Amino acid sequence: MKPHLIILGAPGSGKGTQASRLAGKGYRHISTGDLLRSEIAKNTELGQKVSGILSRGDLVDDNTVMALLKANCDINMVSYIFDGFPRNVVQAEMLDTQLLQGCNSIAVYYKLEPGVLIDRIVNRRTCAKCGEIYNLNTKPPMKSNVCDKCGSINELKQRKDDTQEVVSNRLKIFADTVNPMLLFYKAKGALVEIDASKPEDEVFDNLEKVIC
Ligand code: ADP
Ligand code: AMP
Repeated sequence: MKPHLIILGAPGSGKGTQASRLAGKGYRHISTGDLLRSEIAKNTELGQKVSGILSRGDLVDDNTVMALLKANCDINMVSYIFDGFPRNVVQAEMLDTQLLQGCNSIAVYYKLEPGVLIDRIVNRRTCAKCGEIYNLNTKPPMKSNVCDKCGSINELKQRKDDTQEVVSNRLKIFADTVNPMLLFYKAKGALVEIDASKPEDEVFDNLEKVIC
């Protein structure tokens, strides 16, 4: 089995875009943000508990997200791409000890100057039907409001937490938590950095080079 991939990077650095391109090529993409949004959409008890936290752009507590992740993956069946987990060094340790437990893994850090992130995020649109990610500036759909991938009409939505104010909070939290996490993976000799400012195809080529 290929090593599990742990994708690290600020909100808007392109984790979801790259992970969904790689999914299917022997990997399964798992995004804790998507899992939490799905709980909110289904109005479950967990969804009700975390809804306000996501709207503000704060982090859900470590144990809750870890339990959700564990409930949704079977680590011995397939190689995973972890997108959005870990968010801090405590979660990095939990991932290691509670889930990976010695399985082969690589952490890939999508490095990007903070300046471009807000612009990327506020212009992000996601197809509510199939999850395809667009950008109004850099990757608009071929036909306005029609998803290139699944053909759905008027389903390209902006995430509620992709507003300027909430994004600023999410970016601040990322800046406050990223360094200890990078040091954690560096110390294990399992960290690779990729320049995420390059065009999407180039970033993907570089990701493929890292994993083959
Ligand atoms: P993340 O999952 O890290 O929050 P996304 O993959 O959702 O980031 O990407 C955020 C936004 O940036 C989306 O609108 C996406 O289309 C755009 N984007 C992703 N990768 C690139 C890239 N290499 N260059 C320019 N825009 C990109
Ligand atoms: P994302 O889709 O990765 O941008 O995550 C969206 C939101 O979900 C974040 O702003 C957090 O509120 C929450 N979230 C996602 N993953 C985690 C995590 N690993 N730990 C805590 N909160 C998370």
